[in-house]
Amino acid sequence: MDRLKILADGAKYDVSCSSSGSSRSNSGGVGSAASCGICHSWTSDGRCVSLLKILMTNRCIYDCAYCVNRRSNDVQRVALSPAEVAELTIGFYRRNYIEGLFLSTGVVRSADYTMELLIQAVRTLREQYRFNGYIHLKLVPGADPLLVQQAGLWADRVSVNLELPTRESLQLLAPDKSRDSVVGPMRQVSSLITANRAERKQSRKVARFAPAGQSTQLIVGATGESDRQIVTLSEQLYQRLELKRVYYSAFIPTVADTRLPARPEAPLRREHRLYQADWLLRYYGFAAHELLDEASPNLDSELDPKTGWALRHLELFPLEINRAGYEELLRVPGIGVRSAQRIIRARRQGHLGTDDLASLGVVMKRARYFVTARGRYAGDAGLDSNGLRSRLLDRPLQKRPVQLSLALEQPVRDETASLITGEL
Ligand code: SF4
Repeated sequence: MDRLKILADGAKYDVSCSSSGSSRSNSGGVGSAASCGICHSWTSDGRCVSLLKILMTNRCIYDCAYCVNRRSNDVQRVALSPAEVAELTIGFYRRNYIEGLFLSTGVVRSADYTMELLIQAVRTLREQYRFNGYIHLKLVPGADPLLVQQAGLWADRVSVNLELPTRESLQLLAPDKSRDSVVGPMRQVSSLITANRAERKQSRKVARFAPAGQSTQLIVGATGESDRQIVTLSEQLYQRLELKRVYYSAFIPTVADTRLPARPEAPLRREHRLYQADWLLRYYGFAAHELLDEASPNLDSELDPKTGWALRHLELFPLEINRAGYEELLRVPGIGVRSAQRIIRARRQGHLGTDDLASLGVVMKRARYFVTARGRYAGDAGLDSNGLRSRLLDRPLQKRPVQLSLALEQPVRDETASLITGEL
């Protein structure tokens, strides 16, 4: 239990986990990622985790400046064997504590040796215990391509963390890793997923490769990149490598290092804004250059990015709700994907009035300034950017949600924070 505590604690800074998208079926084993996906929990600082989330070991030969497990940090070092990881996972699963495994690790001996240990653990779970539940496996930067390929055959999702947005920042804070050792496996996974899709169209007998895709994590605030650089990078990752998710992790100073900023608290508000911008990229048809440009390279801390965009484009508003196209509706602050779909469906039955919008899920406290319904404007102010801005400023963020945990006590910090989904 002591080792588990240490290894689960060591894994909490990795936020690149989510179980959506898997369709691994179950034939005669236990667990299923297909029927209901994995159950998500919220960490004490608002992040989403799939339990059991552990490191195989917190020993590491690398010395990343931001990492509590780096070799120069004086912490107790422990490890689990692959057999122990498999046994623990199935034990928790059978007790209904977890629905899947998120397995990461420090690097021991070499990238390949470490990757082999991880693969051995998940292979034991799949073969020996016939576990068909969700598995998210970290790829070790620099691991041999053959091992990367094997990892994707046993896991539902794989991820290798970019950690820092630029090559220079990575060199500064994680000198043992290189951009190529991180991006190489991401590229390989992307092309293997594409090839696997094509092969499975020819024959369903072909084994699935990383059916839930790949994700990555970027640490925000440890180096000086602007939000524009970060959002543009994410856009490229979604478009070129088809990543399922990019996770943003506000820099938390856990170790002292002269290369790190002396930041008393993590930029959680910034992390939240990045998740909102990310949501706009993935679901709302926004491009990175629409959200941020050279003149405004950072997201507005007081306004969500869609509202910020709308205030910069007031010439497009107010939009008549009964005539606007789906893409136009998505650009209205307060109208999300579901409410836009409901509007399109509902107006087939007749023209909508402003009174109908709230029942369709529209957040009228924001949307009313940007729409008309049957020609009627429901806002209590004109379309003036400054006036609207003061009306639309975000309220203080809510308290952090409390982490469900495996009885591994974690202090619940009474700070304000944001949820990370970012739907606008
Ligand atoms: S490789 Fe770097 S980030 Fe990963 S455990 Fe080792 S020191 Fe930490």
